[in-house]
Amino acid sequence: MKTSKNLDSIVSLAKRRGFIFQGSEIYGGFVGVYDFGPYGAELANNIRTAWWRAMVQQERNIVGLDSAIVTHPKVWEASGHVGGFADPLVECKECNTRSRADHLLEEVGVFADEKMTTEEINQLFDENRDKIKCPNCGKKNFDVVKHFNLLVKTNLGNFKDDWTKNATYLRGETCQGIYLNFKNVLDSSRVKIPFGIAQIGKAFRNEIAPRQYIFRKREFEQMEMQMFVHPDNEMNEYEKWREKRWQYYLDLGFNKENLKWHEHENLVFYAKAAWDIEYKFPFGFKELEGIHARGNYDLTQHQTFSGKDMSYLDQSTNTKYVPHVVETSVGLDRTFLAVMTEFYDEDELGGEKRTVLRFPKNLAPVKVAVFPLLKNKPDLVNKAEEVYSLVSKHLLTEFDDNGNIGKRYRRQDEIGTPHCVTVDFETLEGDTKDTVTVRDRDTGKQERVMLSNLVSYLTDK
Ligand code: ATP
Repeated sequence: MKTSKNLDSIVSLAKRRGFIFQGSEIYGGFVGVYDFGPYGAELANNIRTAWWRAMVQQERNIVGLDSAIVTHPKVWEASGHVGGFADPLVECKECNTRSRADHLLEEVGVFADEKMTTEEINQLFDENRDKIKCPNCGKKNFDVVKHFNLLVKTNLGNFKDDWTKNATYLRGETCQGIYLNFKNVLDSSRVKIPFGIAQIGKAFRNEIAPRQYIFRKREFEQMEMQMFVHPDNEMNEYEKWREKRWQYYLDLGFNKENLKWHEHENLVFYAKAAWDIEYKFPFGFKELEGIHARGNYDLTQHQTFSGKDMSYLDQSTNTKYVPHVVETSVGLDRTFLAVMTEFYDEDELGGEKRTVLRFPKNLAPVKVAVFPLLKNKPDLVNKAEEVYSLVSKHLLTEFDDNGNIGKRYRRQDEIGTPHCVTVDFETLEGDTKDTVTVRDRDTGKQERVMLSNLVSYLTDK
């Protein structure tokens, strides 16, 4: 059966089943901001855990960090974000819709680099004005292109009326917190170069045109790792991480046909290499993760701006140097959307159409659903409650006694629950006493399992 795996069906499932809600929905929504609902919060946690396991717990020389969202304002001057973290904005004179000029150019087949100067991008935009239409009203009457800084200001700790003049910022990326703590981690743990620091956390960007659902948000979450290496080892480590990060998606269960590499054409002056892993989202191949060889730019900048020594002393050779950095950086929200897309399916089971999220077991928000066959039979309900408390000690379990069994199966398929356990009359008496049926999400097959073996049966699976 052909599935309608498009953005509309994913958005509708995500809303209907409580994965994702529009932020501040009762006030008409707040652009670029979304909330994870009950199943979304579970899925997001499972994505974080999968990444943390692969990047911290299974890597001997990587340690974790959880740094603050708000930092000293100098951090963003040093990092170059105050001066250069800007996107080219163009406003439609007819309907005032603001768009990214580079994205509009891309739509008419003209490559525009986000690093172009305002003059360069205006020239390119002017050359193509006759082709570019406003995505909202379809007219071709645009203002000039201006650069707009993406950093979000905050008055945290600032009580002046004109606080915007010396405001600080909500972090635009999580990795600055890693650079700030490079020395702290070095001095407080037994790490030796090459070593990495990883963290997961919120980042904020005043994206001009947040679109494509949770792909481009204004408040989002990043999962980043900076590997600190000897300059001579940078490219070697870089290749290693390119391979590891590609393999990570295959291990998550992604089909390799839905992934591809994209090499950045124009590198910033300090970078040695930059490749993205792109995923085939419902709107085409787009960046999921960036893997960058960044030289020693970031640490050197912080050394200059803070006046603190950021070098590393290699005791075996008695040499000092400012380490180079290999970075892997992926959005939690983009991974979430990729996971929803990858595992969304529609098929027919027992002559009935269904929507099913074929999540791997580690990502599924709910691992097991327990049902009493009938809601109005106290013996069945009591036994099912016993089964629920047995299983829920080990696996995230849901109890459902509402509607016929077929409907309950469909509801669990839609949220990707791998197993449904039913307590029926055979559970209560006869040869089959203390057995339950376990139904598999993907095949619909049912097996009778002894209650005494149930937990190991489900956890082994
Ligand atoms: P893009 O070119 O799509 O704007 P970027 O190159 O600016 O992305 P980076 O600054 O390299 O992105 O951030 C690293 C990762 O963080 C991206 O690969 C993406 O997964 C995620 N990310 C960046 N911006 C957003 C956003 N606005 N919403 C959701 N995720 C984001």
